[in-house]
Amino acid sequence: MLAVVKTQPEPGIEILDMPEPTLTQDDQVLLEVGACGICGSDLHFYEWAPHARDEITLPRILGHEVAGTVLEVGRAVTQFKPGDRVVTETWGGCGRCYYCRLGLFNHCIYQTRIGQKAEGGMAPYVIVPDISLYKIPSHMNFDEAAVVEPVGVALHGLERMDLKPGDSVVVIGPGPIGILAAMLADRSGADQVIVLGLAVDRRRLELVSQMGYTVIVTDEDDAVGAVRERTNGRGADLVLDVSGGPGTFSLALDLVRRGGQIGIVGLSPEAPFNPTTLALKEVTVYGSYRRQPSTWYRAINLVSSRKIDVRPLITHQAPVARAEEAFETLLRREGIKALITPN
Ligand SMILES: [Zn+2]
Ligand SMILES: [Zn+2]
Repeated sequence: MLAVVKTQPEPGIEILDMPEPTLTQDDQVLLEVGACGICGSDLHFYEWAPHARDEITLPRILGHEVAGTVLEVGRAVTQFKPGDRVVTETWGGCGRCYYCRLGLFNHCIYQTRIGQKAEGGMAPYVIVPDISLYKIPSHMNFDEAAVVEPVGVALHGLERMDLKPGDSVVVIGPGPIGILAAMLADRSGADQVIVLGLAVDRRRLELVSQMGYTVIVTDEDDAVGAVRERTNGRGADLVLDVSGGPGTFSLALDLVRRGGQIGIVGLSPEAPFNPTTLALKEVTVYGSYRRQPSTWYRAINLVSSRKIDVRPLITHQAPVARAEEAFETLLRREGIKALITPN
C-alpha cells in the first residue's frame, strides 16, 4: 500500500510502498482510512524541527488525524464491529496506569502514539487499539470527521478555562487550532473574539475576518493597545495562546485583564516572562494537552451538527501520492487544513 513515510532524520518525506498491516493483538482494530489531516506536528516532522525529533521513531508512516471505517477487530474488541465509521485518538490511554485510573487519559505513561511511535493514517489502512476509537454518525463525511481531532485540541483548551457568556476572548495564532478556538469561544457565548496573527498569516486572517472576528496583526499593529481599546482599557477576560510562537506567553500576560485567565495550548519554545506581572495581575494560567474522551464526544457532536462548521477550514486535499505538495502548501501558510486521502 502507498503511504507517506518519514524515513530519514532530515527534512522531507517519502511516498513508499509499505506492507499492509495485520492485527497482532486482541484489542486492535484494522481501519480503512477515509481521510487523514496534516497536523502542525506533522509539519514539524516534515521539516525535522529540533523539538520534534524525540517525538517520533523512524521509519514511520505519518498521520494521526484519522477518520475511517472498521474492517476487522481483534478477539477482545466488544464495542466496535466491521462497518462502523470512526475517528481515532492518537493514543487512547492504556486504561491501567496511574493517570488513566485518575481519568487523565491524555497523560497515560505508556503512550504508543499513531503517526509517531506506531504507524499512522496517511495510508489506505491503519491499526489502532479499540480504546482510541469513537463512532461517528452515518451522515458525517470523513473529510469533516478528520478535523474532529484538532477541534478536540481547541475544545480542551477552553474546557480547561472558565469562559462565561459575555466574556472577551483573545486567541493568539490563526492556524487551524486558533480558528477553531475562536469559533468555539464564539459559540460558547463570548461577547467578542479577537484573533492575533502575523503579517505572513494574511490569508488565514482574511478568513478569520470573514467569520466576523476582529483581527490584529501583531508585527504591524500595537496589539496590546488595540485589545485594551476594545475592552474598556482593561484587557481581555481570557487569552488563549495556540500559536507555538516565541515570546507569546509574555504577550498574553500583557493582553489579559487583572484577574483574567490565560490558556496555553500551543507548544511554544522557552522564552522569558515577568512573573511579577503574573502576580500583580492575579492571572490564572491553564495548561492544556490534547484532549479527554469526554472532549471527543462533544467535538463529534459539534462537528457533525455543523454548530462548528469545519468546511471552510479544509482548504486542500491530496492523495497519498501527492502528499508532498500538500505539506509544502501548508508550510508556505497558504492553506489552513489539508487532508490526505488514500487515493
Ligand atoms: Zn493533530
Ligand atoms: Zn495509561
